[in-house]
Parts: sequence; structure tokens; C-alpha cells
Amino acid sequence: MEKFDVIVIGGGVIGTSVAFHLAHFGAKSVLLLDRVAVGAGTTSQSSGILRTHYSVRENVELARRSWSVFNDFAAYVEDEEASCGIVRCGYMISASEGDKLEPLRASLQQQEAQQVRLEYLTPAQARELLPIASFDDAALIGYEPDAGFADATMTAMAFAKSARQKGVKLREGVNVTGLLKQGDRVIGVSTTEGDFLCGTVVSTQNIWARELSGWIPGEILVTPERHAVLALECTTAPYTSAMPVFKDLASAGMLYYRSYGGKQMLVSEGVLGESLVQADATQGDVSLDYVVEVGAQVAERFPAYDTAGLASSWTGVYDVTPDWNPVLGRMPGVEGLIVGYGFSGHGFKLSPTVGRILAQEALALPTDVPLAPYSIERFTTGALLTGKYGLGAVS
Ligand SMILES: Cc1cc2nc3c(=O)[nH]c(=O)nc-3n(C[C@H](O)[C@H](O)[C@H](O)COP(=O)(O)OP(=O)(O)OC[C@H]3O[C@@H](n4cnc5c(N)ncnc54)[C@H](O)[C@@H]3O)c2cc1C
Repeated sequence: MEKFDVIVIGGGVIGTSVAFHLAHFGAKSVLLLDRVAVGAGTTSQSSGILRTHYSVRENVELARRSWSVFNDFAAYVEDEEASCGIVRCGYMISASEGDKLEPLRASLQQQEAQQVRLEYLTPAQARELLPIASFDDAALIGYEPDAGFADATMTAMAFAKSARQKGVKLREGVNVTGLLKQGDRVIGVSTTEGDFLCGTVVSTQNIWARELSGWIPGEILVTPERHAVLALECTTAPYTSAMPVFKDLASAGMLYYRSYGGKQMLVSEGVLGESLVQADATQGDVSLDYVVEVGAQVAERFPAYDTAGLASSWTGVYDVTPDWNPVLGRMPGVEGLIVGYGFSGHGFKLSPTVGRILAQEALALPTDVPLAPYSIERFTTGALLTGKYGLGAVS
């Protein structure tokens, strides 16, 4: 039976980042397993937005450190051919008078206290950056120049390539069906290709993390939640890649927007999605009624989009935890098992730092930032990661 120091389950952007960082920190034998292929899970559905705007202080720190990795990606992964597809267009967030205004103000102030470069814009200044939008109702507009979007699949591929170059063994089409244990200690994994032994398992299974509930004592609370994404085209008002990502807290769907393909608008809601009974990332339907409903909100903010056409639409599935924040670190009562799941629709922007600290934990190195706030125990102790907007889709 083959034996490894660490086995990583799941080749999404989180698992590949863990594998890369394990090799980076000198782990000698690492195996990454994915039942389909690298990047084939929910990573391929990501909108790719990179920002440090969070109302949970700990998330700001993970995102801030991750931005510096994305910003100098090829050097970081030590592969001059690597690209994460970064577009540095900035990030704008706006609220009108109402219940989101003070949480936004408090979150911006907290970001400033954490040394994030931020600007406060007047509606006229906002229009200069995003001339296709109307800001007449805006009571507060924050702008992060060091933000934008990137490509989650390219990032996962680059982490995987560099990990492989550093000696990580990567096996696709291998389904992990259980954990091998000796008492409370994990000693390996069972798979469709046989058993593999190891000292530590890192599970980065996203919506499929619920499989762990059948393998270990205790319940993994994670709900697969489907969200729709639309790409709209308006020839008279293209959303160019020089225009910032935009979060509209004043809209009913708390919509987020970015440029798509250089001229189209990518738009999606920042509210609850459709809960799924089974973990299933295959495509769902996007009804015409839904397109009309979201389209009406878009046209309120972007008047020219009243006549925009639907260029394409797709769905993606979030791994939602009870407080919409990830679970990171060791599983209590199961020695040798580390998890990283529950990113609740915002894991890509955190992936470099999350991979780094999970790898550090697996190798018993000090972690760059504490894992404790993200422990699974918070769901029983009540120390939830509640942000300034309250529990929910805006963390
Ligand atoms: C529509 C949408 C928009 C998003 N937009 C953003 C955004 O703008 N910014 C942002 O930061 N984040 C965003 N996210 C979130 C981000 O994309 C995810 O948090 C991130 O990609 C998740 O990566 P992952 O590695 O955890 O999961 P995945 O990519 O889903 O990878 C998990 C992998 O585990 C494998 N696996 C599972 N179980 C097993 C098993 N038993 N054996 C072997 N393999 C297994 C699967 O095959 C899969 O490849 C978005 C997500 C969606 C769905």
C-alpha cells in the first residue's frame, strides 16, 4: 500500500492551494485526489471577485494577505508561465439610506484600521469610474483600488501545476469513499482505486464535505445552495474591464456586478439561493421570470440596460455554513483530520491564505493567522463569525 505524509481530498482552488503550500513548506510526500478533475467542482463556477471588503475582521485579514498573492501570482507559485487571470479594476460598494448604511460605514472603518487602502467617493467621483451606473440615491460609496477579479480555474490549475513540479502526486478520477482509522486516528483513505496510507488527511470537499458525516462522529453542517449568474450585453453601454467591480447594497437582491469578456456585464444576487437536498454542482435552470426580475433591478442602477440582452446564464453551488463563513482546521475527536469547507460563496479570494494556513497546520508549523475563529466548535459554543451586516449572505 502506498504511504504519504499528507493526502488532500478535493482538487478545487482550496485543495490545490493546500497541496501547493504543503510542497512549498517542504512536505516530502503528498497525494492530491479528485473524483473528477482539478478545478471541475464549484471552482469552475466562480465569479472570481477579489476584494477585501468584509464585515468580519478575520476575513479581511485572509483576503488582504491573499490579494498580495494574486497580485504577484507567477512569482509566488514560482512558475513564470503561471497566471491567475487577474484584472485590477478596483471594487466599489455603495449603500443608500437604510439598514445597510451603518454596517457599511463600520466595515469600511474597520478595513481602514486593518491598513486596507480605501477611498470614499462622492456620486460624481463614482460616476467617473463607472459612468454607465446611476448613483443618485447613494449615501455612502467605498472604493478599494487594490481589488478586481481573476479566474478561479486558472488559479487552481496553476497551484496544481506548481504543486506537481514540486513533487506532489496528483490523481484525478479517484473517488475517496472513506477514511481508514486506528482508534480515533486517521491513518489513510479508502478509494475506488484502493487504499492509501498517510499521517494526515486534509479534506477540501466543498459541498461534498457532508460525506465526512458518514466517516466520522458528528454532523457536518453545510448546505449546498444554488445561485444563478447572468451575463448581459448592452451595445450602447458596455461594461468594460477598466470599470470596477460593483456591489449594490441598495438593490433588493444585493446585486454584484463585474465586466465579463471585456464588454458584457456579469451580474448575480448576494442573497439566499436555492437549497439543494443533495450535493450536486450540475447546471440548474435559470427561468425567464428570474431574468426579468433581476433585469429590472439592473435597469434601475444601469438605465441603458433596460434594453440589454441576455448573452448567457449559468448556475453555481455554494457550500453554506450556519454563519456563512468557512470551517478551517482540525476536526475534534478525529486525530489527523483537517478540513477546509463552507466557503459560502466567497472562498476564491481567500484561497491562497487558506491553503497556506491549512498546510502549515498539517505540518505542525505556526499558522500565519489563527485558525481558532474558524473552528467547527463555534457552532456549538455559539462563537459564530457574525459580521456587521448580521448573519447571512454578506460576510
Ligand atoms: C456562482 C458562484 C460564484 C462565486 N463567486 C465568487 C467570487 O466572486 N469570489 C470568491 O471569492 N468566491 C466566489 N465563489 C466561491 C468560490 O468559487 C468557492 O469558494 C471556491 O471555488 C471553492 O473551492 P473548493 O476547492 O472549496 O471547492 P470545489 O472547487 O468544489 O472543489 C472540491 C473538489 O472536491 C472533489 N471531491 C469532493 N468529494 C470528493 C471525494 N470523496 N473524493 C474525491 N474528490 C472529491 C470534487 O470533485 C471537487 O473537485 C463563487 C462560487 C459560486 C458557485
